[in-house]
Amino acid sequence: MEKAILIRYGEIHLKGQNRPFFERVLLTNIKKALKDFPDIRVIKAQGRYYVENYADEEAVINALTRVFGIVSISPALKIEKNFETLAEHSVKMIEDLLSRIQKDIITFKVESRRSDKRFPMDSMEINRELGSRLLKAIPNLKVDVHKPEILLNVEVREFIYLYHKVIPCAGGMPVGTNGKAALLLSGGIDSPVAGWMIAKRGVALTAVHYHSFPFTSDRSREKVIELGRILARYTGPMRLHIVPFTRIQQELYEKCPDEELTILMRRYMMKIAEEIARREGAAALITGESIGQVASQTINSLVVTNDAVSMPVFRPLIGFDKIDIMNLAEEIGTYETSILPYEDCCTIFTPKHPVTRPRLNRILKSEQLINGEELIREALDNIEIIDL
Ligand code: ATP
Ligand code: MG
Repeated sequence: MEKAILIRYGEIHLKGQNRPFFERVLLTNIKKALKDFPDIRVIKAQGRYYVENYADEEAVINALTRVFGIVSISPALKIEKNFETLAEHSVKMIEDLLSRIQKDIITFKVESRRSDKRFPMDSMEINRELGSRLLKAIPNLKVDVHKPEILLNVEVREFIYLYHKVIPCAGGMPVGTNGKAALLLSGGIDSPVAGWMIAKRGVALTAVHYHSFPFTSDRSREKVIELGRILARYTGPMRLHIVPFTRIQQELYEKCPDEELTILMRRYMMKIAEEIARREGAAALITGESIGQVASQTINSLVVTNDAVSMPVFRPLIGFDKIDIMNLAEEIGTYETSILPYEDCCTIFTPKHPVTRPRLNRILKSEQLINGEELIREALDNIEIIDL
C-alpha cells in the first residue's frame, strides 16, 4: 500500500487536437509546483495524473490547489488489485474517519469504477460486496445512495485507488497555454487579483511596477515584490520590472494642469508597460481597473487612458464591486499584503479635484508640455528586474 494523490483536470478536454500540448504544459507546471519535494513522482494515466512518493501530504496538496488547469484532487490509497486488501483498507479508512466525527449514525455509499476489465468483479459487485463488508465491520454505518455523508470511491485501474475526499482546485487552464501579458502591478488590492484572473486562463505574466523613490519607500517596494511572489505561486516563475517613475511624475506635476495629473500619469504607465510587454514577448496589458471605482476609472477616463496604447488592455475586474474583489484577494492570499499601509506612487501626486470627464484632445495637448519620449526612455533604461 502506498499513498497517492489523484489529479483531475477539466477544461483542457475541450481542446481537441491541442490536447497533448495542454497536457504537456500542465505536467510541466505540476512538476514546477512540486519542485521542492525531492523524490516525488508525477505519473500520467488515462486522463489523470498521479502524484506519488512524498512525505508531507498537506504541503503537496497545498501546492497542487494553486496549479491552474487542475479541477480537483483526491488524496488516495494505492493498493494492490485484490478485493480482500481493498476491504481491509476500506474498513480502516472509514474507521479512521469516524473517529473524528461525533455522531451516532453515519451514512455512506460505495462508488466504484472499473477501467481494468480483467478485475473479476464489476463495479456493481464491488459496490455491493464492499458495502456489506463495511456494514458488518462498523456498527453505526448506514447506506444512503442519494445523499451519503461519506462517499467511498474505488477506482480499479492498474492499481486500486481508494479515497473519500475531493478537494476543489483553482480550475482554469495551464499557465503558458495562452501566451503572455504584462500586468501593471500596484501595491493595491485590485491588480494582483486581475493578474490572477488572467493567469487562470492560461496566460503567463510579466509584471510592471512603478516606483517613485524617495516619495515611496523601500517598504512599498518590498510589498510589491511580496505580492509578485504570491502570484508566482500560481503562475510559476514571473519577472517583475520595477520602473523608476519619479521624474515623470515630477515633470507632470510642475508643467501640467493639476486636475489632469492622474490621467496623464496613467497614460505614461500604459505607454511604458506596452514597451516592456513588447520586449518580453507579451501581447496584451492587464490592469486592475473597474468602472467608476475612482476618478481615473470613469468610462471617459478609461477611454483616454486606453488611447495611450495600441495593445489590447485586459481589465478582468471591470464589472466587479470592490467587496467581491476583496473576497477574491483573500481567497488567493494577496489581501493581507495588499492592505499594508505603505504609500503608493499614485497617492502622492494626486490632484485635489481630478477630472472625471477628461477630453482626449486637451490631454494630448498637456502631454506636449513635457518631453515624454525622453522621459520614457530614461525610465526604461533604469528598470530594475527581479525574477520571482
Ligand atoms: P489597485 O488596488 O490595484 O492599486 P486602484 O483601485 O488603487 O488599484 P489605481 O491606482 O487607479 O486603482 O490603479 C488602477 C490600475 O493601474 C491598477 O489596478 C494597476 O493595474 C495600475 N497601477 C496603479 N498604480 C500602479 C503602480 N504603481 N505600478 C503599476 N501599476 C499600477
Ligand atoms: Mg492603486
